[in-house]
Amino acid sequence: MSQPGAVVLIVEDEPQMRRFLRTALVGQGFRVVEAGTAQEAVAAATTQHPEVILLDLGLPDADGIDLTRQVRDWSQVPIIVISARGREDDKVAALDAGADDYLTKPFGVNELLARIRVALRHAVQAASVSGSPLLEIGPLHLDLARREVTVAGREVHLTPIEYRLLVLLAQNAGKVLTHRQILKEVWGPPYANETHYLRVFMAQLRRKIEPDPARPRLLITEPGVGYRMRDL
Ligand code: CA
Repeated sequence: MSQPGAVVLIVEDEPQMRRFLRTALVGQGFRVVEAGTAQEAVAAATTQHPEVILLDLGLPDADGIDLTRQVRDWSQVPIIVISARGREDDKVAALDAGADDYLTKPFGVNELLARIRVALRHAVQAASVSGSPLLEIGPLHLDLARREVTVAGREVHLTPIEYRLLVLLAQNAGKVLTHRQILKEVWGPPYANETHYLRVFMAQLRRKIEPDPARPRLLITEPGVGYRMRDL
């Protein structure tokens, strides 16, 4: 589902990086709009109606995190942050500001395309109100109506917190969620900074659903940022 013709807005001030992104996307049938500054990005986002925004955080005229917040005031368009290695705090701030995902430079074309596909799919799901009561991710099967969880056909018994945590991650499969986003969603806003709760419950959850909890296949740690359920 590469959605040929979908419009991708590239917000990036480095010409080489922009060329790399443009070439990769045009080759896959995407239409590309480019912006080198935050000001150009806002203009392009309002007039060209992109379906995905690729956003470099270090822009000459503004911070990408502020730009994310600004766009979120009026649009739910998926935003994938492109960030330099070793800036975990920036990634977390961008995701908390409303970005959907991030890619760490340097990254390959296939990784980029996979993230764009996930973003487009989530946008389609968010737009459809139905919301399926069944979620299937590889061997994991969740029946939301019956609150039943099975892994490879075997029923798994979860505590209410474990269940909420798993459902949240499964509903966002393929997408990274920050510690803060997960804690707010599962435990409630007063617990947004209690990262150790999350670590404990993730370990429990892995013991229950991963064949080898030390080498998780489904519940992936994003170091310094949060967790991602692999989109199998
Ligand atoms: Ca830059």
